[in-house]
Amino acid sequence: SESNNVSELQGGLTASGAVNTEISEHHRPDSKATEQRAATESKVISSDPWYDSYAARADNMRASEIRALFSVASRPDVVSLAGGMPYLEYMPFRELSELIGKMLVDKGDVAWQYGSAQGDPHLREDVLQIMALEGIKDVQPDDVVISNGSQNAIDLITRIMCDPGDVVIAEEPNYVGALGVFQSFQVDVVNAQTDEDGLIPESFEENIKAQLSAGKKVKFLYTVPNFHNPAGVTMSVERRPRILEIARKYHVLVVEDNPYGLLGFDGQTYPALRSMDAENVVYLSSFSKIIAPGMRIAWIVAPPGIRKKLVLANEASILCPPNMSQMTISTYLDNFDWKQQIAQYRVMYKERCDAMDAALHEYLPYCSWNKPKGGFYIWLKIPEGLNSKEMMPRAITAKVAYVAGTGFYLDGSGTHHMRLSFCYPTPDQIALGIQRLAGVMNNELKT
Ligand code: PMP
Repeated sequence: SESNNVSELQGGLTASGAVNTEISEHHRPDSKATEQRAATESKVISSDPWYDSYAARADNMRASEIRALFSVASRPDVVSLAGGMPYLEYMPFRELSELIGKMLVDKGDVAWQYGSAQGDPHLREDVLQIMALEGIKDVQPDDVVISNGSQNAIDLITRIMCDPGDVVIAEEPNYVGALGVFQSFQVDVVNAQTDEDGLIPESFEENIKAQLSAGKKVKFLYTVPNFHNPAGVTMSVERRPRILEIARKYHVLVVEDNPYGLLGFDGQTYPALRSMDAENVVYLSSFSKIIAPGMRIAWIVAPPGIRKKLVLANEASILCPPNMSQMTISTYLDNFDWKQQIAQYRVMYKERCDAMDAALHEYLPYCSWNKPKGGFYIWLKIPEGLNSKEMMPRAITAKVAYVAGTGFYLDGSGTHHMRLSFCYPTPDQIALGIQRLAGVMNNELKT
């Protein structure tokens, strides 16, 4: 029932159970949080006979706020501005399924079999044409490694580069999925500042210097340069060579995570960092947002030494990416006008972004945001008196969901921000969702 679901969410946000407490606490070092944690641990101890067997890295794992929201946000009466799910209605499912069915018979001995740990050579060739659209033209299939989504790619690169206590510098606010990986490897995440032109080079350099002088090893910069999740901003073309220059100066690797690069609303693409520096950049991209996430297929381009380690890490962790998914993606790329399909997605996401921007201007003019030029997200700054995390149960009662800014930080900050996704709901639903959100905020401001 609705009330059950709302109280489930309220629980999620008010520290009433093991997982829930972990979410609300989120590494805040104050004494209240410590007390909450002690209470949680005693509950976990009493219910889990394995409590003293876990590795320290499992202790660092936290449920993401987005996953915690999933069950309530996916109720049909709730307008969800929370998830980052692509809208797949324009995919030619029927035609594609017929071709896949045939492929699974004709090439069954490969599709149903183990494959290469580096990934299917045909797909590694296919991705070259996609990367060329963002200026990456000097790559051979042998430079590419296929992974189970970019999430797995972030895990693999962290696995081979980072020991516990090593530093990764990342843009603030952080992509939540990457935070989860970094935490599980006990990496220290250091936030560099961003503005409407993306990562600020001076902040990046200052952070490197401060960490080095504290005796830390800075292993890489993790950056989402295009249409950042959740900040919505894009690294300006002018800043790109500057960031690379700083990285080279301190011998810090750059991990460029680029799942949204082809989803610029005006069709503009930005030169990938990898197109400007082949030796110091590991490039990640994914089929999740430009085709469909259910295949769980992404790819990595890395300099030779790193690439060899990534293949070994892939082998150790999954043996090989699934042939069936890789061949399905190739079947799609070989038989459909995928560039046209992506163009259609761009138009659709632009319409939705425009609808959200217009609704925010109409209903929430006292908030501030940068209108993104592509991607899925608006990062909304709300007035000082409001707390996005505490407000969430009231928003769910009003049938609208978002992700509180606190999900994108490890230190409890983010209460004055929220991430609003415009990718999945229709323009009308978006307008309704923002209207409902405004009702909640107006109420909070009155009381
Ligand atoms: N990186 C970023 C910045 C993302 O937004 C996402 C998906 N939300 C991912 C990586 C993970 O994508 P995949 O489905 O390829 O694992």
